[in-house]
Amino acid sequence: MKYYSTRDRKVEIESAGAIAMGLSREGGLFVPERLPKIGPEELGRLCGLGYRERAVQIMKLFLEDYSEEELRAFADAAYSSDKFDTDAVAPVVKLGEGRYILELWHGPTSAFKDMALQMLPHLLTAALKKTGEKKKVCILVATSGDTGKAALEGFRDVEGTKILVFYPRDGVSDVQKLQMTSQEGTNVRVAAIEGNFDDAQSGVKEVFSSAELREELAASGWFLSSANSINWGRLLPQIVYYFSAYCDLLNAGEIEEGEKINFSVPTGNFGDILAGFYAMQMGLPVSRLICASNKNDVLTDFFRTGEYNRVRPFYETISPSMDILISSNLERLLSFLSGSGETVAELMDELKSEGRYSVSPELMKKIGSVFSAGSLDDEASKSVIKRVFEEKDYLMDTHTAVAYGVMEKYREESGDKTKTVTLSTASPFKFTPAVLDALGESGDKPGPELISVLSEKTGKPAPRPLAELAGKKARFTASIKKDGLFDEVRDFLK
Ligand SMILES: *Cc1c(COP(=O)(O)O)cnc(C)c1O
Repeated sequence: MKYYSTRDRKVEIESAGAIAMGLSREGGLFVPERLPKIGPEELGRLCGLGYRERAVQIMKLFLEDYSEEELRAFADAAYSSDKFDTDAVAPVVKLGEGRYILELWHGPTSAFKDMALQMLPHLLTAALKKTGEKKKVCILVATSGDTGKAALEGFRDVEGTKILVFYPRDGVSDVQKLQMTSQEGTNVRVAAIEGNFDDAQSGVKEVFSSAELREELAASGWFLSSANSINWGRLLPQIVYYFSAYCDLLNAGEIEEGEKINFSVPTGNFGDILAGFYAMQMGLPVSRLICASNKNDVLTDFFRTGEYNRVRPFYETISPSMDILISSNLERLLSFLSGSGETVAELMDELKSEGRYSVSPELMKKIGSVFSAGSLDDEASKSVIKRVFEEKDYLMDTHTAVAYGVMEKYREESGDKTKTVTLSTASPFKFTPAVLDALGESGDKPGPELISVLSEKTGKPAPRPLAELAGKKARFTASIKKDGLFDEVRDFLK
């Protein structure tokens, strides 16, 4: 199967090439030329397998230049029992009639980013061999909090690689910050940026598209790649858990064969929910995808009006991994639905120069037939956490609460009774001050020290890596200006 760029369909490349490069030269994202189908029979077979093998069977459809044995070895390593604290890997929990939670945070960093970032280093190092790349790779990451840590864990001490992570200095939780700054490994560096996530992401994109820097680094034996969800190797493993959740519901007798379900997804960069869209196009019985935002509701407005407008205030919320005004992966959706590289390139140029774009009514009609959208502010998210804990004895994090609350609003307003899976993207112990606050407890200690407090208050155990975080020392304390990324990269690779 070939991959092409969202902005230029003449750029054609095998999957290993797409994964090694991360981003296409002219700034577009790589997308598969078609989406393979999984019919009812194949779905039935998939449901007889465990998570790791489900991953192999789905990924192999997209990665024809990888062997099944390779993928099996990768899946066994990525989702092994020393990495994930449950054999189910991504378990589904029932919270009430027609309401389910898909827990995606049982990996080493307690956020759903592990689902893809435990897999990506395997896909990428194999891709380098397959493409005959002799240079060493430096992974650059812009993170709103969770990607950075998950990528650091995935790539630490992986031979032939280095990894450099940029995070917005005041835009991540204390726990997220300490998780990153205390990272171990000989090939890692972490830097704070004096700006927000969009500054970090734009900065990294600029570094990637600089031909000058590329040549300079090539001369010293390095090339740059990305672990952000703009990389196809990040997105692909995320398709798996939509199928897996469906299978689990089917196997538990919660749904009938062929029954359509909804998914509600806490959304930032639009990677997670896009994987759901791809699963649906591949034949998974899905009725609607609910795109949930926090107060940074640029996507909610887009789905309602057809205008994407990032010229608006940026809010720091209690769900920082969704504090994003430029949702990069929306580009892949526009590419799929418009079928035109020129259209996408024009819209993205407009976004860059004007900060906004509008899509055609025909395109909006297609989008509206699949997606619903809604947003929830901090206060409303906290009441969701409190109510669900009191009524169901279930503790959720601030991001999951946004998606759960938006899902309930959607059900009420639309009357749609379709069974719905809400994606739970982080452990509540990553966002201790806000979660404690939601439960009516004051949290005036640093986040890492509140992990045990939250555990005592709720009777829920913290994931082990988080429980061990308090008392760890920061190794990386530097912060840099918004325009300092080039120098930081040079310094790291000299
Ligand atoms: C990254 C992240 C999100 C947003 O996912 P996208 O793929 O960027 O839309 C939501 N919740 C948490 C906890 C995250 O880490």
